Amino acid sequence: DTIGADLDRAVAAWPDREALVDMPSGRRWTYARFAADVDELAYALLASGVGKGDRVGIWAVNCPEWVLVQYATARIGAVMVNINPAYRTHEVEYVLNQAGVSLLFASLSHRTSDYRAMVEEVRSRCPQLREAVYIGDPSWDALVARGTPVPFGELSCDDPINIQYTSGTTGFPKGATLSHHNILNNGYFVGELIGYTEQDRICVPVPFYHCFGMVMGNLAATSHGACVVIPAPSFDPKATLDAVQQERCTSLYGVPTMFIAELNLPGFAAYDLSSLRTGIMAGSPCPVEVMKRVVAEMHMTEVSICYGMTETSPVSTQTRRDDDLEHRTGTVGRVLPHIEVKVVDPASGATQPRGTAGELCTRGYSVMLGYWEEPEKTAEAVDAGRWMHTGDLAVMREDGYVEIVGRIKDMIIRGGENIYPREIEEFLYGHPKIADVQVVGVPHERYGEEVLACVIPRETETAEPLTLEELRAYCDGRLAHYKIPSALRLLDAFPMTVSGKVRKIELRERYATG
Ligand code: ATP
Ligand code: MG
Repeated sequence: DTIGADLDRAVAAWPDREALVDMPSGRRWTYARFAADVDELAYALLASGVGKGDRVGIWAVNCPEWVLVQYATARIGAVMVNINPAYRTHEVEYVLNQAGVSLLFASLSHRTSDYRAMVEEVRSRCPQLREAVYIGDPSWDALVARGTPVPFGELSCDDPINIQYTSGTTGFPKGATLSHHNILNNGYFVGELIGYTEQDRICVPVPFYHCFGMVMGNLAATSHGACVVIPAPSFDPKATLDAVQQERCTSLYGVPTMFIAELNLPGFAAYDLSSLRTGIMAGSPCPVEVMKRVVAEMHMTEVSICYGMTETSPVSTQTRRDDDLEHRTGTVGRVLPHIEVKVVDPASGATQPRGTAGELCTRGYSVMLGYWEEPEKTAEAVDAGRWMHTGDLAVMREDGYVEIVGRIKDMIIRGGENIYPREIEEFLYGHPKIADVQVVGVPHERYGEEVLACVIPRETETAEPLTLEELRAYCDGRLAHYKIPSALRLLDAFPMTVSGKVRKIELRERYATG
């Protein structure tokens, strides 16, 4: 179905239930109000000359208008282009031109980012950009005032409606083109497996610009009559916990680093989080210790781990409500309904036996239409049989659960031995002086690559800083010799993407020369 038709169904079923709450401004929308505001904005877009297939950019931090733009563009079949709010002029200019954006919605400013100034700077170099509209600015009201009610045209659920750029964890982001069918189904099935109903209130501190927020958050909510609560424009652990407590949220989203920040917030223990039942942790591997605390101390007994990628709308596998802690921490769950997964030998393409690592491939309604205007890159990722090659190494267990071993690009090959950084990271988390750790391969004359541990030290007043000798002594006898780090760097923070992932590529480049 189309996203507009899905919203109509929600309004018919739950007109007076809350759809959206914005904590910073205190504004609230029922489904009826929300749909009316969506339609008003959709009429305004039509009156501004935006039609089916035209690209509308959104370069904004989380706010209710982001969600209105998402549904208004879907209503009229315009293609919404999600732009990372961390981008600066060089990147935004690239995206505006690459996607041919004609109308851009943007935040006015956030913290040190002056979006209006940046748009004005690149505007003359973006010939297709006709209009820029700022959220919370007279230009927004002027746009909305333009619209007059007209019937919406016919849409097909296979029409493209969204270009989402990948996180850029391993290189330059790619624009995945997605249809109603792709993302609406995915939001719906993710919500089904979590068991959402109109009673649920979902706290969404993850960015809307990324599929985690806009599909697993907004689309999973509207397809089940649930409510989305926006704690803050960008991630803030205190605002997130405040929102859960005040709004009695039943579900909380985050990448592992966000949950770590919440659990470690001074005053965490004083929060009443008893309304929480579930939530989603996704995007990167979750340390077992963190998962245990999320279940025990945040009451999220049914929390789901999801695995997926922007190119697949995004979710392919998910843990189920009644999975035990071992499956919830050791695996990324089982495949979603109507999606296929297989694990292949990256060299030969042959399907691996269960229990053997290989490249994970997925197929089904969720696979993107393609990378926007990049047919060669699309052909590299999606094969003739419509299988998406994820670039992730995985094991399919005997019981059908999938384990993610790591990214093919992150695998370290030292003297012919394959080393998976994640395994070493999990082991090093147990060291008392280590708060967080990333393991990467750096070039080595003799072995090809060697193992480098980048460590954020745990803050203590008394202890001496961690040394390489100490680290190696800790590993000695417990890890195979070739996996033991031969270099150590102490850092204050890791280079991150806005979706909350560590850019290992940057660590590798930074320390490539020793
Ligand atoms: P780019 O493709 O631009 O390098 P990216 O792959 O990080 O960036 P996304 O589409 O946001 O962009 O992320 C998808 C990737 O995130 C997956 O391919 C996988 O490597 C990782 N990932 C997602 N969920 C999980 C999970 N639950 N456990 C481990 N890794 C995960
Ligand atoms: Mg990727």
